[in-house]
Amino acid sequence: MARSYVAEARRRVGPKRLRIAPIIDRLTREHQDAAIALRFRSDVELLVSVMLSAQTTDVNVNRVTDRLFRKYRKPEDYLAVPPEELERDIYQTGFFRQKAKAIRGTMKMLVEEYDGKVPRELDELLRLPGVARKTANVVAAELGNPQGIVVDTHVRRLSQRLGLTRQDDPVKIERDLQKLVPRGHWGVFPHLLIWHGRRVCIARAPRCEDCVVNDLCPSSRV
Ligand code: SF4
Repeated sequence: MARSYVAEARRRVGPKRLRIAPIIDRLTREHQDAAIALRFRSDVELLVSVMLSAQTTDVNVNRVTDRLFRKYRKPEDYLAVPPEELERDIYQTGFFRQKAKAIRGTMKMLVEEYDGKVPRELDELLRLPGVARKTANVVAAELGNPQGIVVDTHVRRLSQRLGLTRQDDPVKIERDLQKLVPRGHWGVFPHLLIWHGRRVCIARAPRCEDCVVNDLCPSSRV
């Protein structure tokens, strides 16, 4: 019964390859301010912010980095203090031991192998200690060189609700989205879903009646 209802909803909205363009178009108009919420002024600050954002909110990271970036201005600065001092300085972002270790390892590699600069290629970003695929994708996209599609909790939920993927694993979801979303939109697409997920397609109570893509969404309740 449930399955036939889902199949019927999918039939109603049509194939995803025909829906993706109007979905991107309408969400772009709806969320013109969709952009990364982390605050940074350099590539190194971007990288550190994204590394700190694991398992916490962007608001919390901004609060911590506001002070942090006044003290640590270049990769060497993170290596010049004892590990415990860096741990204390990022304590409020949670998982501070793990994050401090990853940041120190990454800064060391930047200094030793990349002349203190953040590399732009995904495979190079993935070499940095403690930099996982999501972090690398976010950083590459913000550097203007998206080579994948960021899948966070909002992107996962909305891709599933919009019927753009049937997968649950972020790597498989990303693969589905890469086949579907035109390459020129890889950078902005996650921001559109993230902002739509925060404002309209909320996890517990999606506001389908106010949603600009409700006629394109198999999960719409209206
Ligand atoms: S119609 Fe509802 S479930 Fe679908 S994207 Fe919009 S808010 Fe989310």
